Amino acid sequence: MIVVLLGPPGAGKGTQCKRIIEKYKLAHLSSGDILRAERTAGSDLGKEAQGYMDAGDLVPDELIIKMMVAAINKADGGCVLDGFPRTVVQGSELDKALTAEKKKIDAIVSLEIADEVIEKRLTGRRSCPVCGAVYHLQSLKPKVEGFCDKCPDQELVQRADDKPEVVKNRLETYHAQTAAVIGYYASTGHEIFTVSADAEINDITADILSQLDKVTA
Ligand code: AMP
Repeated sequence: MIVVLLGPPGAGKGTQCKRIIEKYKLAHLSSGDILRAERTAGSDLGKEAQGYMDAGDLVPDELIIKMMVAAINKADGGCVLDGFPRTVVQGSELDKALTAEKKKIDAIVSLEIADEVIEKRLTGRRSCPVCGAVYHLQSLKPKVEGFCDKCPDQELVQRADDKPEVVKNRLETYHAQTAAVIGYYASTGHEIFTVSADAEINDITADILSQLDKVTA
């Protein structure tokens, strides 16, 4: 099964993906996570992506498409795409690549949420650079302010692209380019399940899984 999870940055796609992959035993292919891993590894792709990412701009289509198609082809048992496609070109190139492999998208889920809620969520997000645990200044505080619960003495950090001015740019980029992906899928006959992402995490999961159960039934 191939699932596409759409939605603005900060809609909770990562959290929901973890639950989807657990239930259906799929690979979680987050384009943002793969790019961050490339940066940490110091690869050419990581170096090329760095400037775009820190500014909250999209990395050029050709780099992303190549990277994600390779990852999808590796994920034999199916996958959830998180953060990809983000432009109409990415969407149509993904369709072409899947058709060439005699595969198709089985479900598209679109998480919807207001910009103001996202701004609060993202600018308050802090994470541990060692284990990756994610906290929030208001809603998910660590036991000791500013430090990871799991890694002793490890200070939490804010992602460069979670800084307020960059979050604004990421949202503008989303509205300018990524929202059109929904239009692309609608115009090419793909069904889109819309789910409100401004709700309890477990309720959002239940909503998504009930839609995906219908696809797998
Ligand atoms: P994310 O963690 O999904 O918010 O992604 C972080 C950053 O990685 C984005 O702000 C972009 O700079 C870059 N990125 C991730 N996915 C894509 C994509 N599909 N197309 C272009 N850039 C991307």
